Amino acid sequence: MYQIGEEEIEAVRRVIESKNLFRYQGGAGETEQFEQEWAAKIGTKYTLAVTSGTAALICGLAGLGLGPGDEVLVPAYTFISTALAPLAVGAVPILVEVDESLTMAPEDLERKITPRTRAIIPVHMNGLPCNMEAIMEIARQHKLTVLEDACQADGGSYRGQRLGSIGDAGAFSFNYFKILTCGEGGALATNNQAVYERAVYQQDGGAAFFQDMSDVKTPGFAGWNFRMNEILGAILRVQVTRLEGILAALRAEKKLLREALADASEFGLSRVNDLEGDCATTLSLLFESAERVKEVLERLSAAGVGAMTPINSGRHVYVNWEPILHQRGAHHPGRDAYRSTRVPVSYARDMCPQTLSVLARTINIATSIDRSPEAQQELITQIKQAVAAR
Ligand SMILES: *Cc1c(COP(=O)(O)O)cnc(C)c1O
Repeated sequence: MYQIGEEEIEAVRRVIESKNLFRYQGGAGETEQFEQEWAAKIGTKYTLAVTSGTAALICGLAGLGLGPGDEVLVPAYTFISTALAPLAVGAVPILVEVDESLTMAPEDLERKITPRTRAIIPVHMNGLPCNMEAIMEIARQHKLTVLEDACQADGGSYRGQRLGSIGDAGAFSFNYFKILTCGEGGALATNNQAVYERAVYQQDGGAAFFQDMSDVKTPGFAGWNFRMNEILGAILRVQVTRLEGILAALRAEKKLLREALADASEFGLSRVNDLEGDCATTLSLLFESAERVKEVLERLSAAGVGAMTPINSGRHVYVNWEPILHQRGAHHPGRDAYRSTRVPVSYARDMCPQTLSVLARTINIATSIDRSPEAQQELITQIKQAVAAR
């Protein structure tokens, strides 16, 4: 949670006083207006607000027509949700290495393609843009669809295009920990009408309440309920107005830190595929060895600096994805994607060694929107001292 306050309180008051808390109650309510505002911000024709980033991924995959027998390529470093979403629609996730940019490695992506591969989910992890040029080229060559996971990258961009608008669809999260927040929430963005309409069916129980069906062309089907409510829609409308300010503050701090640490010889500043579009939520330092990372982290922790290595980020690393490693894909065997694969898939804890090596050699330091200039200088000194001491 970066910034929330009086304006959001006013927005919630407005909704409660209106007594319209349900989005499909006739007229363009808060949620629908948020959808239009988010579509304008991201630069896509359609946006569908839903209850979480995971729901956005599931609606995106349903929208793209993914299902049993399909393989979906996901990075080995991402929040577990990215890998769970394919299972929810009956497809299986196949793990791809990340490179030193902490995002999907295009070379390994290409190696993991099989005749069953249907889609790629590149994840803009920690707000860092993926190498979308290489990924989109591979997708074109192999006729794969691309669903961007921009859940940690609200508002970021790659070569001037907003993240989430480059592939066939993009998923965003507004949970408590993300750049924009309404506590829990998400959105799917796309330029494709059929993908949007299918996503609508998925989020509203086969369009149980969705009202404006006049130009809908896609046949309906049974879906779930991921409908957003008007309180969250109203909060998000305020959050969108804060986006550029939040990103500007994060980027200014990261730039300052990178410049101050540019000549350090002990570590490298992790490669960023597009520095201008980076959301700059974290500064990543890449070391020679995992042992050095441990030493430096101990000193940073003793100095009170909030830093961590992504190898210890729990459910963000594939080795901690038990339902996937053990191939328990659903609550019932008849619904388990692992039982409907055309060719069995296998996973092992050591299957992505490059990912494990890069993560163990990286230190992530969170940037802040309101650190004072003095505190920023202090942080730079603490990082330099923690690295210098042996
Ligand atoms: C947070 C997150 C999600 C899921 O978002 P929820 O809103 O928590 O469901 C998916 N992918 C990534 C990379 C995330 O960080």
